[in-house]
Amino acid sequence: MNNVTNEKVHRTEREMVLDVIGKFRTKMSPALSRLAKQSDPVAKQFIPSPYEALDFGTEKPFEEGKNNHGIYGLERVYEDRAVLTPYFECSAYCRYCFKKSRTLAGSAKRMSDEDIDKAIRFIESDSRIRTVLITGGDPLVDPRLLEKVLDKVFPIPHIRNIRIGTRNILFSPEKVTPDLAKMIARYQQIDYDEPRKSKNISIGLSLNHVDELTPEVVRAYQRLIREGITVRGQVVLLKGINDSVSAMRELLETFLCTGIVPYYLFHCMPVVGAKHFRTSVQKGLDLLQELSPYSGTTTFQYVYVTPIGKHRIAPGHQLEYVKIDGSRYIRSTTPYKAADFLEFSDNRELPPLHGINEEGYITSHYLDGHDEEEILA
Ligand code: SF4
Repeated sequence: MNNVTNEKVHRTEREMVLDVIGKFRTKMSPALSRLAKQSDPVAKQFIPSPYEALDFGTEKPFEEGKNNHGIYGLERVYEDRAVLTPYFECSAYCRYCFKKSRTLAGSAKRMSDEDIDKAIRFIESDSRIRTVLITGGDPLVDPRLLEKVLDKVFPIPHIRNIRIGTRNILFSPEKVTPDLAKMIARYQQIDYDEPRKSKNISIGLSLNHVDELTPEVVRAYQRLIREGITVRGQVVLLKGINDSVSAMRELLETFLCTGIVPYYLFHCMPVVGAKHFRTSVQKGLDLLQELSPYSGTTTFQYVYVTPIGKHRIAPGHQLEYVKIDGSRYIRSTTPYKAADFLEFSDNRELPPLHGINEEGYITSHYLDGHDEEEILA
């Protein structure tokens, strides 16, 4: 904590704490509060830190409300996927996420019935959309709203995959009741005569440290798995929490032996108040390289997320660096065509720091993080 009072910061720790409290909200569920008392890696993810006052990052990495095509709660970036955010709130605020920002507190908390109907008509109108991701906020906070959305998404003939993104299984494992698991499983349908017409529903569960896999949490996702629902684990790479081979190996192995399929390892996004959580992008590549002898055939896909979509990178990938305004950025040519992005996302122009190469593909610049401790000073 001494770094925080380093003279380079020019502010006392107390001033920084007041700044953090003024800018950011704090929320924890009862189960999480109990767990945070027993686990330092969990506490660090939910208890405000003076480091959040460090001047850095953007408040809205993506437009809050995901308001594409004039439909509140709808987002589309890729040809084959649409994202619905029926419920914008979470039962707790992760300190590395933009949800904690007070300036977002006034946003509408949920899609209205009209918003949902408009979004469904939009998805129905484009048979290229095969996957609907229902995310948040957290869709499991309001299961009735989730059921209402599932009832409308499931019958759309061209929808093959429904994915639900959640962290609420950690926050409120008791809410994953047998009835909830059965309700979700209803939206799974195997067509034995024409398998390609089957419909799959799966859960993307965000967990970042093995301490989060408590008996209650494991029982909760096992209730889903026993109903035939695939549960995939997605992890955010967080400095001081899981950025070591031992922490990541323990998490990966526990995922595998309790039935979670490892899915994404996300680099921590450059959101305001999250500077102290961000490692370099290279750090994640190095970790996966070191894990590769252990993880067998199943490991995480490593991605960093920009406003134009995910960038997948794997060990052996050579990152290209450029300096912009004194900061280190990763430059890459993406697999996404600019014309496609503009059409799907209903944007007139690319986001800042993005361009188009001669073949029409988007080039992007992503703000890197740092591994050195002194960046906090
Ligand atoms: S649960 Fe997800 S959306 Fe909610 S605060 Fe945490 S990371 Fe952000």
